[in-house]
Amino acid sequence: KKIVVALDGHSSCGKSTTAKKVAQELGYAYIDTGAMYRAVTLYFLEHYIDLTNPKKVQEALDNIEVTFHRNSKTGRNEVFLNGLNVEDEIRKMYISDKVSEVSVLAPVRHAMVAEQKKMGKRRGVVMDGRDIGTAVFPDAEVKVFMTADVGIRAKRRQQELFEKKQLVPYDEIVDNLKKRDFIDSTRAESPLKKAEDAHVLDTSYITVDEQVDFVLDLVAS
Ligand code: C5P
Repeated sequence: KKIVVALDGHSSCGKSTTAKKVAQELGYAYIDTGAMYRAVTLYFLEHYIDLTNPKKVQEALDNIEVTFHRNSKTGRNEVFLNGLNVEDEIRKMYISDKVSEVSVLAPVRHAMVAEQKKMGKRRGVVMDGRDIGTAVFPDAEVKVFMTADVGIRAKRRQQELFEKKQLVPYDEIVDNLKKRDFIDSTRAESPLKKAEDAHVLDTSYITVDEQVDFVLDLVAS
């Protein structure tokens, strides 16, 4: 029987790395919901959308289509905004700086959550984000809440950005992670929090393989 695996947690604690590998092992689809909020943020920035104007926000949302397509060369699932591949653009710091402010908006959340429910309605998905186990799939069979020491997360994120030729100071990354965690967990609409039935996984001192095994063990049990 195909199930839903929900991975939620703080920024940069290895959710997407874990989710990708778990999905591969299970032959499931992987859906990176953070990429969807990032793509919306890119659109809002490109079109100078006034976040305080609900009419403009809704109008913008009506003009946005976020989709995922498999890159046949890399086997990676990549995110597209209105047909344009934005996989690399949305990972940049200027998007990380704004994304949480866009993600607090109720109309944005409603649109994304509805889309994510559709994407997972036939089950057989691993979805990572902030509210998957609480708002998108409260009935997910496996829920994991991931966290890690903020300094360790920042180091890992810095290395990841460096590999993409982006040099970002460590302190700037720490500040960004703290800011996003704060906004994400204090917003009114589906805030980041551990679902009651979620298993906590602290990735500070474990390997990626151990993270993957933790989730696969829960799936098997
Ligand atoms: O997962 P990632 O770090 O790419 O997510 C970027 C941002 O998108 C988060 O900091 C959060 O503001 C927002 N987000 C959200 N709900 C989700 C996934 C991401 O609000 N399910």
